[in-house]
Amino acid sequence: MDLKQYVTIVPDWPKPGIKFKDITTLMDNGEAYKYATDQIVEYAREKEIDLVVGPEARGFIIGCPVAYSLGVGFAPVRKEGKLPRETVKVSYGLEYGKDVLTIHRDAIKPGQRVLITDDLLATGGTIEATIKLVEELGGIVAGIAFLIELSYLEGRSKIGKYDILTLMEY
Ligand code: 5GP
Repeated sequence: MDLKQYVTIVPDWPKPGIKFKDITTLMDNGEAYKYATDQIVEYAREKEIDLVVGPEARGFIIGCPVAYSLGVGFAPVRKEGKLPRETVKVSYGLEYGKDVLTIHRDAIKPGQRVLITDDLLATGGTIEATIKLVEELGGIVAGIAFLIELSYLEGRSKIGKYDILTLMEY
């Protein structure tokens, strides 16, 4: 299936000059969403994943159906102030801005094999921060899966030593 036909490119959003890749038109198509999810599940199947971790909010959309299909749990990474119990945190730079990401301190047990998911790899700041959180808690990053990689932003150079799957490249 050619997944790119389900991605809508929105010019000048959220800022002039940015060509936003809108994945809601992929998610609201049952066949395309299932196909994309199945591709990631297939990739993860041999990796003995114990837990899926994804940053809000689109990392949840990709990660939760994958976790369900693998029969493992999902732990959310969220912006500061959203998780109700003790967290660890990391600050990071975005394609447009700066932010802090957090995860519950007890979300990952040392030695657990983690699959990280997000919709899109741009500069790599978000995923690098998510990796830091997982590793700080003793998790092993066994794989990282994205729907989309914006290869011209070279985010992969930040995470080159990890095992990465991307379903579409721009
Ligand atoms: P990075 O941290 O790699 O620069 O940016 C990736 C993060 O920003 C991802 O969590 C992703 O959801 C969001 N993002 C940045 N650009 C786009 C885009 O064009 N489309 C979508 N769907 N998300 C984007």
